Amino acid sequence: MKIYKKNQLPDKNGYFGPFGGRFVPETLVGPLNEIERGFKAAIKSASFRKEVNDYLTSYAGRPTELFEARRFSSAIRGPRIFLKREDLAHTGSHKINNAIGQCLLAKRLGKKRVIAETGAGQHGVATASAAALLGLKCAVYMGEEDIRRQALNVFRMKLLGAEVIPVSSGTRTLKDAINEAMRDWVTNVRTTFYCIGSAIGAHPYPLIVKYFQSVIGNEAKRQILKATGRLPSALVACVGGGSNSIGLFAPFYFDKKVRFIGVEAGGRGISSGEHAASILGGRVGVLHGTKSYILQDSNGQVAATHSVSAGLDYPGVGPEHAFFKWSGRADYAAVTDSVALEGFRVLSETEGIIPALESSHAIGYVLKNARRFKKTDILVLCLSGRGDKDVDEVERILKARTS
Ligand SMILES: *Cc1c(COP(=O)(O)O)cnc(C)c1O
Repeated sequence: MKIYKKNQLPDKNGYFGPFGGRFVPETLVGPLNEIERGFKAAIKSASFRKEVNDYLTSYAGRPTELFEARRFSSAIRGPRIFLKREDLAHTGSHKINNAIGQCLLAKRLGKKRVIAETGAGQHGVATASAAALLGLKCAVYMGEEDIRRQALNVFRMKLLGAEVIPVSSGTRTLKDAINEAMRDWVTNVRTTFYCIGSAIGAHPYPLIVKYFQSVIGNEAKRQILKATGRLPSALVACVGGGSNSIGLFAPFYFDKKVRFIGVEAGGRGISSGEHAASILGGRVGVLHGTKSYILQDSNGQVAATHSVSAGLDYPGVGPEHAFFKWSGRADYAAVTDSVALEGFRVLSETEGIIPALESSHAIGYVLKNARRFKKTDILVLCLSGRGDKDVDEVERILKARTS
């Protein structure tokens, strides 16, 4: 793929500027080296690239559409807005792009078992699906609190033949699930591949996830040029760990006139302390093997997070986003729960598309900042997933508000 250009790669130690690297126990250094070598060889192999591409096309439903949201745009008196429809990908979000890629890599490395962590359950479902498709054993770590909030996805994973392992440590959410998955990996590293769900973790994971998610931006670039004859003014995507956003942004990296806007989960507002905006509200630290912006308390302990969307509820962010922030290549903003809910409602009503609550943060950003763009500006917004999984939660919130 086109993105594998020299100056967009991390250095040999896995650093993007001052961020990234590999902060892991010694037992994992060998396995990470094996994955790095295996990944680099795989993406040089035409047959591996073809295999990935064939599954993305025949199984995951790619390419996904680029759809101009005309009624949404006129309702908010905004610029031209094109939605990159990752909600139409198999299993309902962009997560499948990376899950297929990493499971194929696992097979190529001779592994029979994959493990994954999941928060909202989207990455767990995507990995369980890819594992079923490719005949791999699959175990998914999930915090007990998330198991309660996302019962439907838990059942989906079980239907797909995966084992769901409840995690009862810490806040019993995504960060604790990652800790447990890493523990499993250390123990079973000979037979097991750890399929990480976002552009986070120790080198080479952020690079691997970027590579497999760049299909989003590569397609979007071709599609926007075909639809409008020019490059977009800006790209907008929500940022949890940062995989759908890096996938959209990366192929435009050298197109300096294309602005990148990453939208973090502002929760109840940055000043409330109840949010998950790691770039805007965090400090430099190390979490899950990588150096990046981390939400932490005054003692440097990882802070509790809050977001209406489980998929953005993570106290860290991928190191390449930290680098984009630091170097000024991308701008980051935060959108509160209530603005995201407004985005959720307005897009549903104007376009007949119910977006995931995560994606609704990107929509909410455009809704609130419509006036800052010219009518002739062209925005590409990553609609990272569909909202079916969120309708119960939204109903509960709306009921609580009116009662
Ligand atoms: C997981 C998820 C996200 C957040 O993850 P990123 O790695 O930041 O993309 C966003 N949207 C949807 C629909 C998700 O499932």
